[in-house]
Parts: sequence; C-alpha cells; structure tokens
Amino acid sequence: MQKIHKQWTISDAANTYGIKEWGAGYFDLSDSGDVVVRVQTEDSSVSVSFMDIIEGLDARGFSMPVLLRIENLLDQQMSRLNESFRTSIKGNGYQGRYQGVFPIKVNQQAQVIDEITRFGERYDHGFEAGSKAELLIALAKVPSKDSLIICNGYKDPEFIDLGLQTTRMGYKVFFVIETPTELPTILERSRSLGIKPLIGIRIKLASQAGGHWQDSGGDNSLFGLTTGQLVDVIDTLKTEDMLDSVRLLHYHLGSQIPNIRDIRTAVRETARFYADLVNEGCPMGYIDIGGGLAVDYDGSQTNFLHSKNYNLDEYTWDVVEVLQSVLDEKEIPHPTIITESGRATVAYSSILLFNILDVTESRPGPIPEEPPEDVPDSIRNLYEVRQSMTTRNVQECYNDAVYYRSEVREDFQSGNVSLRQRALADNLFLDIMLGISRLLTKVKRVPRELDDLAESLYDTYYGNFSVFQSLPDVWAIEQIFPVMPIHRLTEEPKRQAILADITCDSDGKIDTFADIHDVRKTIPLHELKGNEEYYLGVFLVGAYQETLGDLHNLLGDTHVVSVRINPDGSFDFVREIEGDSIADVLSYVEYQPKDLIELFRQKAEDAVRAGTITAQQRRIVMNAYEESMRGYTYFER
Ligand code: PLP
Repeated sequence: MQKIHKQWTISDAANTYGIKEWGAGYFDLSDSGDVVVRVQTEDSSVSVSFMDIIEGLDARGFSMPVLLRIENLLDQQMSRLNESFRTSIKGNGYQGRYQGVFPIKVNQQAQVIDEITRFGERYDHGFEAGSKAELLIALAKVPSKDSLIICNGYKDPEFIDLGLQTTRMGYKVFFVIETPTELPTILERSRSLGIKPLIGIRIKLASQAGGHWQDSGGDNSLFGLTTGQLVDVIDTLKTEDMLDSVRLLHYHLGSQIPNIRDIRTAVRETARFYADLVNEGCPMGYIDIGGGLAVDYDGSQTNFLHSKNYNLDEYTWDVVEVLQSVLDEKEIPHPTIITESGRATVAYSSILLFNILDVTESRPGPIPEEPPEDVPDSIRNLYEVRQSMTTRNVQECYNDAVYYRSEVREDFQSGNVSLRQRALADNLFLDIMLGISRLLTKVKRVPRELDDLAESLYDTYYGNFSVFQSLPDVWAIEQIFPVMPIHRLTEEPKRQAILADITCDSDGKIDTFADIHDVRKTIPLHELKGNEEYYLGVFLVGAYQETLGDLHNLLGDTHVVSVRINPDGSFDFVREIEGDSIADVLSYVEYQPKDLIELFRQKAEDAVRAGTITAQQRRIVMNAYEESMRGYTYFER
C-alpha cells in the first residue's frame, strides 16, 4: 500500500515555531505563509505581514539588518498592564490605585521613552531612574505632575538637589534609600534647600525568586536595607523629625521571575513591612514592588527560566489580593501599588530582522561508488560500515565509524594519509552519521550515546547581524528569544540549523532555541533559493538588548525603524534612524576617519610613484575606501 505523506500545513509551521504560544496574540501566520503582526483597533484587529514591511524598508533603501519597532505593541502592552491592574483592583474592592513606572535602564532609547510618555499619559505612568543621566530623562519626559518618578541607585548631592527642586515644582520625585549612607546626604540637602523630600525605602526581603536574577533578592542582595538598618533609618528620621517624609516602600526581587508563588511570597512579606512602618508612624501611601513581571519567551507557560507560569491577569490579581489580605488584617489603608515593569512593557514591541547570507550544510561531498585503489584499510572499513547499517546494528556501526575515522586522522598526522584521502574519510563518516540518524527514527529504543546525534548534524546559516550588538543577552546569559523565518511558512523547513552571525567570533551564534517542551539545539529552516533573500526575525527583543549591545568586531548599531499600524491595516514608517556608518564606529574607538583616509591616500600615492598602480587605479581604490567609510557596518548586497 502506498504510504500517504501528510501535507505540511500552516498549522504545522505554527506548531514548529510555537508562535501562538510566545506571540501573546501579537504575532501569527497568514494563510500565505508570512509572519504577521496583529494589533487591536477600536472594534477589531488588523494584521500586517512582516514581508510587506520589509518591502517598504527595501523601497526606502534600508538594507538588513533592521531593528523594527511597532509602536502599537508598546501602546497595547501599556494598556494591558494598566487595565489589568484596574480590573484586579475593582474585582478585589481594593481602595488604592495602580501607578506604573517604566525603568529607563530597560530601554533608554529616546524614541521608546517618547512613546512611553505618550502612551502612558492616560494612566499617569511615570519613570524609574537609576542614575543621574536617567533622572534627567525622567524629569524632562514625565508626562504630568500626577506621574511618579522613582529614583533608585546611588544618589550624590547634585542628584538629590535636582530631585528636590523638581519636587518644589510640584512633581512627585521619590528618593529611594538603597543604603543607610544615603540618608544623611538627603537630610542635609533637604535642610539646606528647605524642601521636604519624598522618601522611599528599599528593603532586602528574605524572599527570593527563582530564575536567572535569583541573587537580586534575599539576604545577600546588593541593594536595600536589612531589617536592622531599616530600624536605624526610622530612628534617625524620628530624631530628625523627618519621619513624615517616608512615603514609599520598595523591593526588587530580580527580573524575569518565572514562578507566581515567589511573587506572592514577596508581596506578603513586603505587606508586613509596610504595615509595621505605618505602625511606626510613617505616613506611607505607596508600595513599589519593583520589576520582575516575566515574558514567556519560549511559550511553555512554565516556571522555566525563560518562561512564566502565570499570565498578566493572574499577576495583577495576586499582587492586589495578597496585599489587601495582609493590610486588612491589620486595618491599614490600602496604598497606591507601583510596579517597575520594564521587560514586560517593551519586549514585544521590537523585532530584529535580518537576512541569511550563506549556509554551510552538513552534507557529505562526493563519495566514489567503490574505494579508490590506493586508500588505506581504515577507509575501506568505513565503506564497509556504510554498506552494513541496519536498525539492529546502529550502535555498532557508530562505534566502528568513530574508530576508523580517528585511525584515518592519526595516519594523516603521521603523513600516511593524503589530504584527499582524509576528505574522503570525512565524507564517508558524515554520510554514515546521517544514515544512522535516519535509522534511529525507526528503532524502538535509541541508544543513549546516540540521543543527540540528529541534533549534532546541523547546517550553519550565516545571518547578517551581530549577536553582540543586537542580542547581547544571548551571549552573556544564554537568553532564549523566539527566532523563526518570517516567510515561506507554507513550505516545510527541511534543514536543521544553528545561526552564526557575521562577527567571526565563535560565540557569535544562536544555538539554543525556544521549544514548548524543552530547549532545542537547532531550528528547522528552509533551503535557500537561488537569488531569493531568506529573512528571519528574532522576536521580543525590546528589553535590555539595545543599550547592552556592544561594538564587537566594530559592527555598529543597526538601522532602527518605527512603524505605526493604522486601523485600516495600512502602516506608516513614523521614525527612522540610520544605523552606524563605518566612520561612526571608527570614531567611537578614537579614530579620525579623515586621518585614515589621508594615511591610505599616501599609500596609494606611493604605489603610483613606484609604478604598482596607475593614477586612474588610485582614483578607483580611493573611491572604494571613502565609499566604505560612509557605508553600513553590516553586509550589503
Ligand atoms: N527596577 C529595578 C530596581 C531593577 O533593577 C530592574 C531591573 O532588573 C527593574 C526594575 C526592571 O525589571 P523588569 O525588567 O523585570 O521589569
């Protein structure tokens, strides 16, 4: 009977890449096989294909890679966060309100901060500043006097003076005491200027959250007061008659908290601190539970590092409910709840788009039908192994192949095997491994040693991007981001691949990919087609990546383009920032492009003088040099 080959469908593509799981309703596939972004309009939703956006970019002369920002997604994420808190507050009968602040460190880019100001205004969403530079941004960009500015981090007298003067203008600028040594400066500057500060206190909780940033919480966390220090600070403020300045309690357990239980535990512990501070006589009024609201990067909805076992509504409900239950027990009025959610606010709105430049396939080169006459026995043995593979002897064939290949390699080292013979052995070995991995799909029990064989036989797709510049967390903390082709999804992707960037650094790669059940080492991709570009997207990259990125190999900032999607499904390119030119990146590392051009010109002139090139050829090479200086740092077709 003829075996029926199941046709690949668009839902196979959705399952393969998990887009419905990590996409949070913002990303999906069209029937024609493109990834689309879906945004909410007043009464329905509209979808736009990334391929249409790329076409628009191409027409405007933007080559890959491009960091694409979709304004609507930031707008929607801010609404989701604020509206979810509103619903939970109403549902629980909580008497306080919610006011978010965006931690500027998570994405300091002016465009992003402008959008947060604009979209946050209707919710009195404010900013969290962790340094003087961030404070200057926050003070200038805060949408209104009703929004909050929370100052964390080390604060010198200049920082404090500026915050105090702005408080006098009617803005709510909170100084969060991170270490006991900050208090005397705040008190001294406040007395000197005659302005009462709004003081917040950051505490070290005993509670800790699992996940990558586990050490940001608990007794050994870097910032925050121990309970002993907290009591000292309260006593000092009492002595100084300044206790009425204490208005806010803050903690930050760490970013990307995957387990809701840890969030509940921390809120409960903080509520106890809050109640006791009220009982000590502090007016309070605000409780700031920091960041930590996670993003489900792999779509597994579990308490895995790159996921979270709760949704936004559960998060807001639990925070409100736990807080309320502790405070009601002590008959303490309900404070304003502040979160410093950064990652969850901006991650969705940025997507890195790039093209594939080249592929190294794990396919053997040509293998003659019969062993050539002059080859050593080890190569003949590899031929035999290749002939004898069945489902019953896979382990034995694997062992033999490994043995004979190493014999060939040793003989090559001692000069008894030629380059061509070694190449033949390598081809035979790869062919055997591919054969074994095919047979393994038919065996009942895969030998342990061969568990990972299929995954080790991957192609390398070279992408036009830099991990270090655009996805630094992939390199630094092995962060997983969803990656997938953004077109051709009606075709089955038949190659298993890892991605290499163009830095030629062995760390410049992505070889861990999101999977709902586990992480996987390879990603299924399509074969390249002749001259057609093949585009991939890395999704959910809006948080932390842009500013942490560096200039490794002098690959600079990519082009950044912001798109706004209109209710009729059309879209506008609202802002464009050209990526760094080569002259830009050279000047960042203290070269003067003009000096380099002059030095090269002298070399070219010497060559003319020596008769190596003509004056005409000098002009050509100088043009090429100067043109490159103005060009993009990435690969240009
Ligand atoms: N608040 C503080 C004090 C932080 O250090 C951070 C970052 O770790 C955040 C807020 C933002 O956290 P997240 O991006 O998890 O919301």
